[in-house]
Amino acid sequence: RRRIGVLTSGGDSPGMNAAVRAIVRVAISRGCEAYAIFEGYEGLVQGGNMIRKFGWGDVRGYLSIGGTLIGTARCNTFRTREGRLKAACNLVKNGIDALIICGGDGSLTGADILRSEWSGLLEELIREGRLTQEEAAPFTHLVIVGMVGSIDNDMSSTDLTIGAVTSLHRICEAVDNISSTASSHSRAFVIEVMGRYCGWLALMAAVSTSADFVFIPERPPSADDWESEMCEILKRHRKLGKRKTIVIVAEGAIDKNLNPIKASYIKELLINRVGLDTRVTCLGHTQRGGRPCVYDRNLATRQGVEAVEAVLRSTADTPSPMIGIRENKITCQPLVEAVKLTQQAAIAIGKKDFRRAMELRDPEFEE
Ligand code: ADP
Repeated sequence: RRRIGVLTSGGDSPGMNAAVRAIVRVAISRGCEAYAIFEGYEGLVQGGNMIRKFGWGDVRGYLSIGGTLIGTARCNTFRTREGRLKAACNLVKNGIDALIICGGDGSLTGADILRSEWSGLLEELIREGRLTQEEAAPFTHLVIVGMVGSIDNDMSSTDLTIGAVTSLHRICEAVDNISSTASSHSRAFVIEVMGRYCGWLALMAAVSTSADFVFIPERPPSADDWESEMCEILKRHRKLGKRKTIVIVAEGAIDKNLNPIKASYIKELLINRVGLDTRVTCLGHTQRGGRPCVYDRNLATRQGVEAVEAVLRSTADTPSPMIGIRENKITCQPLVEAVKLTQQAAIAIGKKDFRRAMELRDPEFEE
């Protein structure tokens, strides 16, 4: 009878609640106990009433609510050994021997570090008299399972992360709203969208709203004088009769020398070189919020089921798995590998190896 802890960590994303609900209910129906750990790793480090046993009814209504009801936090203490000692101690005291984490690559890295240090942490806690031999004895290893909650869709080895599709819907609704006023006044809008080092949100939003131009980190404009090239394209669209101009800029957009491309700079170009009445809209945190769309509810639920099954399958030698989705099938693959590829993609962008970055994010990528 396992005791499975669940926590959400890093940036919140719509669908995290659906994941928590699925984990709690599948755990219970598979004969396990479920524990919610509040405020991400902060709750794990603090213990006490931040770790609570959850019953079937505790997650009632979770499916359709945005954000994460059990809270999330950035926790610097967990980055230290002392923080992880406290976390390990709290897990043992609560009898929790498996943890399912829903977060980004940082959160999943932290979880795997806890797992790899586990026996050393317990030895140290016994040495320091914070745990007795008897208390620690049943906890030979800690099972970690990762689920990816991120609006950015920035994790390698999975087609989609929980929250990305909802965020894309929010962006497209906003661009549609802006488009009607842009058309009315014959204006141009430069719209900045989230995504950190990843251009997925910006690119998909541009395709889905028929934007005139898009800037993403993985494909900086290739022309030396890309400013003129963009301005010519926008002028041509206007000549074809368009009454609005929409340019989407990913927050991590860069030129080929890795200098950031800022919405304010594009705005000046549109005013001065295309002669358009131009506004900038930074969509900000509206992109994160709100009810998860059907896809994210479904994805988080299916992945939550698989996460509990992965806990039940795991042995001391199983590498920590990450639950993903590939070609519409829920997958379970080594977490460390996926995190490594994700981090290598960000490094490849920093080295101007943009093609490699795309391949690392998506092995089936073709030019
Ligand atoms: P995300 O999970 O969205 O990538 P962060 O990188 O901020 O977000 O990570 C969330 C939390 O995970 C951090 O505040 C920290 O508590 C923990 N964490 C991240 N990286 C590590 C690490 N290398 N070692 C230990 N804990 C980490």
